Amino acid sequence: MYYIGIDLGGTNIAVGVVDSEGRIIAKAETPTLAQRPYQDVIRDMALCTKRAIENAKISEDEVASIGIGIPGVAIDGVIVFCTNLGWHDIPMEAEFRKYIDKPVFMDNDATVAGWAEHQAGVSRGTNSSVFLTLGTGVGGGIVLNGKIWAGEHGAGSEIGHTVLVAGGDLCTCGKRGCTERYCSASAIIRMAKEACAKNPENAIMTAVNGDPEKINAKIVFDAAKAGDPVALDVFDKYAHYLALAVNNVISFFDPDMIILGGGVSRAGDFLLNGVKDRLPEYLFYPTLKQPELRLASLGNDAGIIGAALLGQ
Ligand SMILES: [Zn+2]
Repeated sequence: MYYIGIDLGGTNIAVGVVDSEGRIIAKAETPTLAQRPYQDVIRDMALCTKRAIENAKISEDEVASIGIGIPGVAIDGVIVFCTNLGWHDIPMEAEFRKYIDKPVFMDNDATVAGWAEHQAGVSRGTNSSVFLTLGTGVGGGIVLNGKIWAGEHGAGSEIGHTVLVAGGDLCTCGKRGCTERYCSASAIIRMAKEACAKNPENAIMTAVNGDPEKINAKIVFDAAKAGDPVALDVFDKYAHYLALAVNNVISFFDPDMIILGGGVSRAGDFLLNGVKDRLPEYLFYPTLKQPELRLASLGNDAGIIGAALLGQ
């Protein structure tokens, strides 16, 4: 049998046909156009799924289930909310089954990415892991005792919205000082802009031809890797915050493995080692065996794979 994985994003809907080993055998994509009525978005999700099934050269009868990773919280087939789609109480399963009548499983996008790594990626074979997605925001995906843990009410892995700096930067969630405001790609850009405003003679500003609006996380990391002192300062600050966030995860869960994923993790070993170097400062039981800190291995496909394997 095959499993459909749908990565529902604010901009794009990506669908994959996944086999029981977690391999994607075919894909299809369509724009989300999120401002439309939800019925239209769900219809396009179903049509895109039919295209992916066609691309895989299999029949709908060979599909066991539909899995959807959503940027929000879902309970019992209903999306409780998806903030960046402006959705509340959307009957996703009932609506989707009008087009393809298969069981529908849903979970948060960071949760499914963590599940993908546990089932088919870097944390395969571990008993417990915490996945941190470092993108525009910061998400968390928790696997405990080989099972997804999303809390009793669906909000148990919102690691990005634990407060890291009391009274700190204002977050989209309304609180101040959330981990997301210090450990996301947006945080790197904000810190780099602040550093460039104070000290504009640096490799970041050269890379963006003097236009700070063009700064992204990769430019900052590349300049830091090349040894630019201003960029290294930004990286140092960022790695310090991320080490604090990782330490909070260790204090709370003490899992086998903590995985860094999302766009920022493309900085690779430079980032991984930057965090590892700073961790010992914060560890509470430094003599105990510590969780392994690793980079995600499935990249952008984790969303599709993890969603698909929800139904396995
Ligand atoms: Zn927040």
